[in-house]
Amino acid sequence: MRAVVFKATRQVAVEDVPDARVEQDDDVVVRVTSSALCGTDLHMYDGRTGAVPGMVLGHEGLGIVEDAGRAVHRVRRGDRVVLPAHIYCGVCFNCARGDSAACLRVHPGHVGGAYAMPGMGPFRGSQAELVRVPFADANCVVLPGVPGDEHEDDFVLIADAWVTGWHATELAGVRAADTVAVFGAGAVGLLAAYSALLRGASEVYSVDLIDERLDKAAELGLVPVDVRRGDPVEQIRELRRARAGARLPGEEEMEGVMAGIDAVGFQARDRSRLGTEDPRQVINDLARLVNPTGRLGIAGVFTTTDAAPAPEGGHADGSLQVPWAALFNKGVTVGFGRTHDRRYTTHLRDLIISGRARPGQIVTHHESLENAPGIYDRFDRRVDGIVKAVFHH
Ligand SMILES: [Zn+2]
Ligand SMILES: [Zn+2]
Repeated sequence: MRAVVFKATRQVAVEDVPDARVEQDDDVVVRVTSSALCGTDLHMYDGRTGAVPGMVLGHEGLGIVEDAGRAVHRVRRGDRVVLPAHIYCGVCFNCARGDSAACLRVHPGHVGGAYAMPGMGPFRGSQAELVRVPFADANCVVLPGVPGDEHEDDFVLIADAWVTGWHATELAGVRAADTVAVFGAGAVGLLAAYSALLRGASEVYSVDLIDERLDKAAELGLVPVDVRRGDPVEQIRELRRARAGARLPGEEEMEGVMAGIDAVGFQARDRSRLGTEDPRQVINDLARLVNPTGRLGIAGVFTTTDAAPAPEGGHADGSLQVPWAALFNKGVTVGFGRTHDRRYTTHLRDLIISGRARPGQIVTHHESLENAPGIYDRFDRRVDGIVKAVFHH
């Protein structure tokens, strides 16, 4: 089968590799119709998170079940399925409580597993013609329709980008009428902000520094905030003041937001020198911006194995200096971590089917799998206005 293979830092190739096949009785093999490129792929591409040459990349896949082991009961050959990035068994101590990203069986001796991520198990990725799905009854979300229909882009985003964005709004406890700020307007950030709107937020600010992403934010009904124009915390406070109506006593002290989301992660830019990384930048900004009694969701990736930590503020093991006292004094609740896909996938699928949500609006580029090396390069250099690229197989 053809597959996108990691060769070395900033080098991927499309190559022939052995076909994915049923290895355990509870596996299926899926013929991939769409796979998406993700910022997490770039962490590997950039040589930051320990990708091993020869890895088949991709953790966002949609396709048709081609073969099924004899112990698979819920999905059959011919079913259209999306494959959530974080693989889980469905029955262990953590899965049973819905904490599927912390599955204790999928990668023995570790917490959680995923396709094509260093340290997350031996699972090959879905930027390939075929992909093996372990614990298939748990890890296939069955979908209506046929490949290439109007929901192809919507459904592929259930594999990771939208569930991660939705999870961020859960971590930040977004409720109806909340004011929300999302730092980072890549696919996850945009879909976190879009999720906040779906959950009834009153104002949603989307912070970034790339024109096409800020344009997309505006298209989705978010308020774009351009970091290149100055301190985003002050910009948002200013916008909030301009919108304020009749206030309750003391409300002027609440000119920040009730919920904040980090959708950037460890490669955040230092705002005073935008060409330089500072992994503390976003948490520092969020700690200033969040209102007393507010909530933060940290959904951007942080790694304990950074091969090239930022010169200031970075640390190979991911240790960060954070404004703990500010968060304490404001009584802020902070949530962290990977998305528990199992909790959200079928709900998000149904929002798409009912027509309430069209996450596929954020997809800007469609490419053939054979063009993967060029798209990796352009996405990595943030050129060509790529917000989200999907490979059609
Ligand atoms: Zn992803
Ligand atoms: Zn499990």
